[in-house]
Amino acid sequence: MRKNIVAGNWKMNLDYEKGLSLFSEIVNMVKDEVVGNQEVIVCSPAIHLSSLAKLAAPVKNVTVGGQNIHQAESGAYTGEVSASQVKSTGAAYVILGHSERRAYFGETDELLAEKVDAALKHDLKPIFCIGETIEERENERFFEIIQSQLDKGVFHLSNADFGQVVLAYEPVWAIGTGLTATPAQAQEVHAYIREAIANKYNQEIADNTTILYGGSANPGNAKELFSQPDIDGGLIGGASLKSRDFLDIVKVFN
Ligand code: 13P
Repeated sequence: MRKNIVAGNWKMNLDYEKGLSLFSEIVNMVKDEVVGNQEVIVCSPAIHLSSLAKLAAPVKNVTVGGQNIHQAESGAYTGEVSASQVKSTGAAYVILGHSERRAYFGETDELLAEKVDAALKHDLKPIFCIGETIEERENERFFEIIQSQLDKGVFHLSNADFGQVVLAYEPVWAIGTGLTATPAQAQEVHAYIREAIANKYNQEIADNTTILYGGSANPGNAKELFSQPDIDGGLIGGASLKSRDFLDIVKVFN
């Protein structure tokens, strides 16, 4: 049975102290609200990870993740962070393929496949993001784009490795814009993704894969989104920076 996940993506927000205090608040608020099959993940800037992981360690089903890694093991890559370094903080996940990384840092599908491999080699679970731009939606090319991002980014993995991956459908036009995909639009793509997994691997693996929705998710729309049959939770940007809003989204699964 697949997990329900609510993951926060803090992006490049919060200095060290503010991050710690927000996370302490989140941990205190969610610790009695996370239901059996649910996991709450906070993906913070690298500077916070080891402190947050220590705060999360005693709390069941609350974990932390990074937002990016370099694909190489180690070496002369000034300013970068490796998979083993992120893992060594106590983080369990890493976001890969976020549209901001694809758009602003030129990350290609081919590079992302290398990053996915690096993460899995060090037992970091990828939260792999896919999604179409507004032009691609208007031209009705979104299924084709999603399929291609899956094929190139994660479908080279073995059954066992793919089993470690969480997918996040984040339509680029819905990120930080206040424009949310309607539950029907999101469900249509999530069902497509699950079918693509079944075609590539098998139905059991497809049924066990957690597929998150991301893009202007908030306490007002999360319930309807997460009640769709193929939407297993959310990857939350702006609303994850407010403990009350994040808690209300976590509580959708209660
Ligand atoms: P917002 O929730 O701020 O739209 O961001 C979504 C996102 O990019 C999460 O990764």
